Amino acid sequence: MEFKQGDWVRIEKNGTVYEGKVMPSMEGYITIKMKSGYNAGFSTDRVRITPLENNGETANGGRNGLKECRPERGEPSDSGKKLPKVAILSTGGTIASKIDYRTGAVSSQFTADDILAAIPELREIADFKGRVISSILSENMDSESWQNLARAVVEEIEAGADGVIVTHGTDTMMYTAAALSFMIETPVPIVLVGSQRSADRPSSDNAMNGICAACVAISDIAEVSVVMHGTTSDDFCEIHRGTKVRKMHTSRRDAFKSVNSLPIGVVDYNTRTIKTFIDYTRRGEKPLKFKPGMEPKCALVKFTPGSDPSVLDCYIDNGYRGLVLEGTGLGHVSTKLIPMIQKATDAKMPVIITSQCLNGRICDRVYDTGRDMIKAGAIEGEDTLPETALVKMMWVLGQTDEFDKAIDMLRENISGEITECTLK
Ligand code: GLU
Repeated sequence: MEFKQGDWVRIEKNGTVYEGKVMPSMEGYITIKMKSGYNAGFSTDRVRITPLENNGETANGGRNGLKECRPERGEPSDSGKKLPKVAILSTGGTIASKIDYRTGAVSSQFTADDILAAIPELREIADFKGRVISSILSENMDSESWQNLARAVVEEIEAGADGVIVTHGTDTMMYTAAALSFMIETPVPIVLVGSQRSADRPSSDNAMNGICAACVAISDIAEVSVVMHGTTSDDFCEIHRGTKVRKMHTSRRDAFKSVNSLPIGVVDYNTRTIKTFIDYTRRGEKPLKFKPGMEPKCALVKFTPGSDPSVLDCYIDNGYRGLVLEGTGLGHVSTKLIPMIQKATDAKMPVIITSQCLNGRICDRVYDTGRDMIKAGAIEGEDTLPETALVKMMWVLGQTDEFDKAIDMLRENISGEITECTLK
């Protein structure tokens, strides 16, 4: 029997059964994408291949499966009740990915409308308008993409969106979240969401994350937030403040954590209710304000024992405008590097110190090294995450050319990146 690409088949080999969807295969071989998301290849003369009776519908269906149904646009999802308007802006990443049967790889090729079709429950929560901003993996984002995205978010809010969802690759989502936090003062929720596992995998987190993001987008939380799985189970999502969040695991579904802050709250997936833990900006509390401008020539440099001072020199000599150092413990670099901090600040290049510990607060007033760093002009980043400090530096230097003003802005808490007291 001949099988074509996309058919569901059962393959028996030495008493073991494999089930999956046929992928492009070489002559004499059959390759399938299994329910686990892994690919398996077999020599056709050594196996027994039969069609899967249910054509794989239940094998890959269920809440997290990619359903091929496409509810018509504008279909009333809730007996005449007027739903809030939510714009869903798609940038790419795993949440917008599906298997490319040409290459067997996962690629970002889903649009916002495809996401709505794959997660039909979303239509019960809000009246969505989809817009594709880009279809890229998030490692390809840059300060230009952040500004284009921010502009699109602002346009949607101006056009009357009650909330905005941005679907995004998880790897650099924290940078984009911080960038939107600094660039936009918002009267409505702006929610970034991604998924760690693509929609074709039964363990995909796309549906739950998408649904929880929609709950936050229509909520009272008028902040830039990141909404992702809170645990490895399908029980709740956490709502992280855009300047306090970090991806802390390569593959777990609960990879995102708030650092030096509690999450703003959680969304219970079953009841679709939100519980908050800390104070947040309420819907309508602030008018919409857009403050674009990003200086790309800023760098985040990790200090390691024995770091060569010429590394910093290189940035200074190459026209960089701001530096964030990820120092040790309370925020130290070696004594040898301190003249470079002085050289940078003499050249009107701000230097912020953050910590490799991530958790806790910078205090350069305890040890001599730290005091000398402050004397050389270093700014203590308080409890700001290194990545957030970098984005803040880029944004501040995109707002002003005046060194003293930049220093004042860098010391100030602008968008929740510095908290008053350290979380124990
Ligand atoms: N590296 C890709 C990205 O960040 C895929 C990972 C993901 O989306 O989680 O876009």
